[in-house]
Amino acid sequence: MIRSTVARVDLTALKSNFRAIRDFLKAASEPGILAPSDAPARHRTVAQRTPDVIAVLKANAYGHGSERVGLALEEAGATMFACADIEEGIVLRRAGVTRPILIFGALSVSDLDGLFDYSLTPTISTPSAARAVQAAAARRGVACGYHLKIDTGMHRLGFRHDNLGRTLPTLRASPNLRLEAVYTHFATADVPGHSLFEEQRTRFEQALTRIDARVLRHAANSAAVLRDSRVWYDIVRPGLLLYGIVPPPLASTIPLQPVMSLTSRVVSVKGLRPGEAVGYGARFTAAEPRTIAVVPAGYADGLDLRLERGGHVLIRGRRVPIVGAVSMDMMTVDVTHLEDVSPGDEAVIIGRQGSESWQQIDVREMAAAIGTIPYEIVCRIGARIERQYV
Ligand SMILES: *Cc1c(COP(=O)(O)O)cnc(C)c1O
Repeated sequence: MIRSTVARVDLTALKSNFRAIRDFLKAASEPGILAPSDAPARHRTVAQRTPDVIAVLKANAYGHGSERVGLALEEAGATMFACADIEEGIVLRRAGVTRPILIFGALSVSDLDGLFDYSLTPTISTPSAARAVQAAAARRGVACGYHLKIDTGMHRLGFRHDNLGRTLPTLRASPNLRLEAVYTHFATADVPGHSLFEEQRTRFEQALTRIDARVLRHAANSAAVLRDSRVWYDIVRPGLLLYGIVPPPLASTIPLQPVMSLTSRVVSVKGLRPGEAVGYGARFTAAEPRTIAVVPAGYADGLDLRLERGGHVLIRGRRVPIVGAVSMDMMTVDVTHLEDVSPGDEAVIIGRQGSESWQQIDVREMAAAIGTIPYEIVCRIGARIERQYV
């Protein structure tokens, strides 16, 4: 490792999060056991079977590196994975992941070989995809198991919930397609009190009554897992929770640990005289003498320009503000109030530097500081940043 900005991915924390989620589901599903305080106990009328977990690994496992994350979760007992497209599924298979892999996204109907060559499970969300997969399976003389996606109100992918009478019969008559599961996706699971969540739940349950066969059902992303155990059904699909991040604005008592940290080292320290400015646009001007430290990580590494207003890093155990424009390969921080900052000092961009509560910058905090969501922060950590697995 030569570059000083590195992302550390804690696979022990990842596995522990996976187990903590499973324990949470189990505790809340068992009859007579007091639910954790954030389980929506008022919704639990009958004990339900503990749902299985589909571990969501799309977008390179939310920037954490899907190969190592997939293998670690398989070791921790994960029985099924999901990713966005066939290419991501192939990466997981080549890494040695053996469990079923569900492809969430729409299929490019022209190139379906990967489904069969790497035994990936497609989502069928349009009649044309159904025809294409049926034709490809027939050509190979195999049956292809699939998950059926129903659009209950997100209005992106899926068969419309109110048109299944027309669309389902042809799909179900496809001789080489084997229905394994039915699912939907919530648009507002993380918008507390939004009525669309409840409407989608009702529409999904209505749609399920149209399917005669015994199939598995799933619907819950991380937010829905936390929000309402009625939508856990047979399998839940957490992504963000696995990486130790609770989707804002929700809270949870599941004992999760952050998985990724991002650290760098100060490469240069210099003084600004009153009236001098730092960086592109000369947007930060020193009113009095200032000391600036340069950290070699910039927007090419996924660090947002908006960090200029409200972003911090940790140096010598103290929070220091990012000042001036974030540039492509570096950013500048105001260390005027720290003593003896020198090149080589560690700069924590995401993660901990000490045990006090303020000695941590977590992904939720960074996202809130710049007006985005934690998902965007972790997915954008750049490709040139080395992931070190610990
Ligand atoms: C990304 C995704 C998930 C996981 O979402 P989180 O909010 O990260 O838990 C679940 N289901 C589908 C269909 C997704 O695309």
